[in-house]
Amino acid sequence: MENKVITVTSPLLPSLDDFIPYLQDIWNRKWLTNNGYYHRELEKALCEYLKVPYVSLFTNGTLPLMCALQALRITGEVITTPYSFVATTHSLWWNGIKPVFVDIDPETCNIDPDKIEVAITPRTTAIMPVHVYGKPCDTERIQTIADKYGLKVIYDAAHAFGVEVNGKSILEAGDVSTLSFHATKVYNTIEGGALICKDEKMKKRIDYLKNFGFADETTIVAPGINGKMDEVRAAYGLLNLKQVDAAIEGRRQVAIKYREALRNVKGVGFMEDMVGVRHNYSYFPIFIDAEKYGMTRDELYFKMKDSQVLGRRYFYPLISEFSTYRGLESANLNNLPVAHKIADSVICLPMYYNLNIEAINHIINQIVK
Ligand SMILES: *Cc1c(COP(=O)(O)O)cnc(C)c1O
Repeated sequence: MENKVITVTSPLLPSLDDFIPYLQDIWNRKWLTNNGYYHRELEKALCEYLKVPYVSLFTNGTLPLMCALQALRITGEVITTPYSFVATTHSLWWNGIKPVFVDIDPETCNIDPDKIEVAITPRTTAIMPVHVYGKPCDTERIQTIADKYGLKVIYDAAHAFGVEVNGKSILEAGDVSTLSFHATKVYNTIEGGALICKDEKMKKRIDYLKNFGFADETTIVAPGINGKMDEVRAAYGLLNLKQVDAAIEGRRQVAIKYREALRNVKGVGFMEDMVGVRHNYSYFPIFIDAEKYGMTRDELYFKMKDSQVLGRRYFYPLISEFSTYRGLESANLNNLPVAHKIADSVICLPMYYNLNIEAINHIINQIVK
């Protein structure tokens, strides 16, 4: 095969021909940011597409997490997962909240509901789970625990754009959910993100918080931040929304080919679709059992790299291993055996809507011996 590098992801891009009239219109309006026309249009379009009542756009996927914690007045300790992108835990740290790590379920890689209750202390105020790889958390069990102890639930749904369970958006779970529209995600606005909530009052509060706390020209209601999305990226987002279903279908086809090829490879595990779930195929993780496969995860990872196939070890290292967090009691290896085992065995294979069959075969050939 030629020496072309196969990257782990490739962004969904609107056509330039389609984008230029939008840019022309923005230039004509001369309204570049602060809840402009395209900003409002994209919030409306996302409510419809995602089947949710309220969407607040943000300039990235980290700020809605930080603002959610402010809006819900979360303090003390928050129970979360070490198996995620660092932004999840960083949002707690920036709010002066102590993260408490709980181990994950080996089947879904999401926080293990069985292990949440023992981690609750009098200082616990919320749970922050992540729908890792877009696989839905056990939202019912998490809500039952939250209700029993009077805790808020904030879902980091950065991977879960468009995911539905029995026809209902996964974003309806908990008090609020957040999305990332970063270039590497299923749906992107280059950089961007959103907060999804269920009542108008919360939406209003979030919109104040992302605009420095301004309620009107002279009133500041809270110590807000600047999290606003601009018109150019909102317009780009409107165009990308039109092709995201086709992109998800393209990803599904890639997942089908990977599964066919890897089904009978000893020591290579992967995730199947869940019954009743509309998946978005945001990632395709494989899990290497070194003993059965005859090669460690890292040996395979570097072998793939030598053949120009760039997988990613998502999520390795665990968040609990980073210097900021490793001193926490809950970061102890003994508290997180499943997360460590998964982090040491995972490789996310290249996954994007237009990954072609030659590339897929080349990737598979590196894994199938
Ligand atoms: C991408 C991501 C974020 C952060 O999103 P940005 O848009 O990059 O700020 C947060 N949490 C998870 C799980 C992510 O994958």
